[in-house]
Amino acid sequence: MRDQMTIETILPTPDIFSAKRILCVQPHYDDNDIAAAGVLTRLQQNVAELFYLTVTDDLMGVVDDTLSDEDAAQALKRDQLAAGKIVGVKEQYWLGYPDAGEYDYFAVRRDLLKYIRMIQPDFVFTADPWLTYEGHRDHIQTGLATSEAVMFAGLAKIASSDPTVDSAYKGHDISGIVFYYTREPNYIADISSTWEAKISAIRCYEAQFDQAGMDELVMTLDMKAQQVAGGESFKRGEPLKVLHTSALHCGF
Ligand SMILES: [Zn+2]
Repeated sequence: MRDQMTIETILPTPDIFSAKRILCVQPHYDDNDIAAAGVLTRLQQNVAELFYLTVTDDLMGVVDDTLSDEDAAQALKRDQLAAGKIVGVKEQYWLGYPDAGEYDYFAVRRDLLKYIRMIQPDFVFTADPWLTYEGHRDHIQTGLATSEAVMFAGLAKIASSDPTVDSAYKGHDISGIVFYYTREPNYIADISSTWEAKISAIRCYEAQFDQAGMDELVMTLDMKAQQVAGGESFKRGEPLKVLHTSALHCGF
């Protein structure tokens, strides 16, 4: 972990390599992998089970606009499952809210409470909702709803979208929340050993990128991965904000 003099929390930064069950909540089909497939592959190799949950249907990003919504949805799932095989994702879940559309924040939060209570992860990954200059509302809503669901999972009075899950839930510990797409990382994960796997996973997302777009994405990811590893002992990294779950409220 990076030692920070101006650390913004007095709570210990959890060790992500202690993770056994990780829930990764993403706004769109490819965000977990674009942002964190390198570290997630490493964590999976290190015994963690990976569960991916996608909040929106992602239909706006499909490049072939002659496809019906049904065919486009199938293409996205096909790509995601292929990428998931490379990263080692155990299970995928989809909420299907309209991509870049109008949907209720609290409905998303109720669904996330359901999946957190059901899967009982010890770490939760998601997009940093406080990323400055993030213009995509799906990213902000997903990150915030996930943060709240992590904080509120143990509060029985806050209902999820599934009463059966709620009544079976006895509580569990969540060691940490990990934000990707962050401008304030406190940990740079060494992804040198999983870089090739990450790029193979990214290249599965054919429905969302044409060849030129894909090449550009890979080049951008490579430059960014090398930039964030500047000053580290390794060549490529992924920047993360790793927080104790109690650090999600009032700045402690
Ligand atoms: Zn996205």
